[in-house]
Amino acid sequence: MKHEHNNFERCRELAEQLNDYLDGELPEDLCAELDVHLADCPDCSVVLDTLGRTVQILRKLDIAPPPLPADLEARLLERLISPLG
Ligand SMILES: [Zn+2]
Repeated sequence: MKHEHNNFERCRELAEQLNDYLDGELPEDLCAELDVHLADCPDCSVVLDTLGRTVQILRKLDIAPPPLPADLEARLLERLISPLG
């Protein structure tokens, strides 16, 4: 399979599941799908990494994570995958 970076729609779809994924609330089969995609998609990995670290820090500090805007991940992704300029 060729590595083509043209699955932005897929990225958006998955981005909406990242919160649940981080909360451990995503069903196992969807987690697996997400893992497969993340392994092959640097953009999504960065988003997950950033979100994950933020959530972890807040948890360590025993602060409830503030509610994230529903479209935060999508917007992050949008930025990452937009051509510069
Ligand atoms: Zn992706």
